[in-house]
Amino acid sequence: MKSQYRVVVIGGGVVGSSVLYHLAKMGWQDVVMLERRRLASGSSWHAAGGVHTLNADPNMAALQAYTIDLLPKIEKESGQNIGFHMTGGLTLAGTPERWEWLQSNYRIFQSIGISDCELLSPEEAQKRCPIMSVDGVLGAMWADREGYIDTTGTVQAYATAARKQGAEYYEEVKVDSLEQVADGWIVKTEKGNIKCEHVVNAAGLWAKQVG
Ligand SMILES: Cc1cc2nc3c(=O)[nH]c(=O)nc-3n(C[C@H](O)[C@H](O)[C@H](O)COP(=O)(O)OP(=O)(O)OC[C@H]3O[C@@H](n4cnc5c(N)ncnc54)[C@H](O)[C@@H]3O)c2cc1C
Repeated sequence: MKSQYRVVVIGGGVVGSSVLYHLAKMGWQDVVMLERRRLASGSSWHAAGGVHTLNADPNMAALQAYTIDLLPKIEKESGQNIGFHMTGGLTLAGTPERWEWLQSNYRIFQSIGISDCELLSPEEAQKRCPIMSVDGVLGAMWADREGYIDTTGTVQAYATAARKQGAEYYEEVKVDSLEQVADGWIVKTEKGNIKCEHVVNAAGLWAKQVG
């Protein structure tokens, strides 16, 4: 580990490793990620690994669609299996308000170019999942691009793909504090200080403690 980098990313979860990957991909070579324990030892380990396109916020929906397209690419670039299973998924509406919400989301998806979703009647939904009871179901939305993933493998894949592009990451390096200086930051770790231009605090639940 050097004592100077352009960017220090703090936290080796899915956010930190994705930031590291994207910086490296965009040509930022002098970047490092520091993880206090092992990669994916925070929330990214706990996650169920469900991947969804269904989001009421068009920006989030577009970002999720981007990620779903990216995942097979990082698997290929890294050589790390990410256990991605694109099963498709149903979201059910059991109240008129929820059904209205689903229909409104469907229209948003159409307007932002996400076309692999469809609204279904309860009977149509049951055909997609015959073991499901549709008692009380008013309608459903099917999305082709839904499924599940191995979250630990995904973090490893981002980090490995980033490393292949020249980025660095280190485990067992806890950041103790940050100090802002005139031309950047001093990142104080238990293994020495690092001077950098930019800090990305991707420490998840612990971000406030980092600074
Ligand atoms: C039970 C559960 C189920 C979930 N299911 C889903 C799901 O199905 N689908 C979905 O999309 N999302 C799901 N989520 C949400 C998802 O897990 C989180 O949004 C995501 O993992 C957050 O990633 P992160 O990188 O921000 O945080 P984290 O994965 O927590 O990464 C932060 C990292 O920072 C490190 N760190 C902390 N302090 C320091 C320090 N001082 N120095 C260095 N490193 C430090 C930690 O060790 C950790 O590895 C679920 C979450 C939980 C808890």
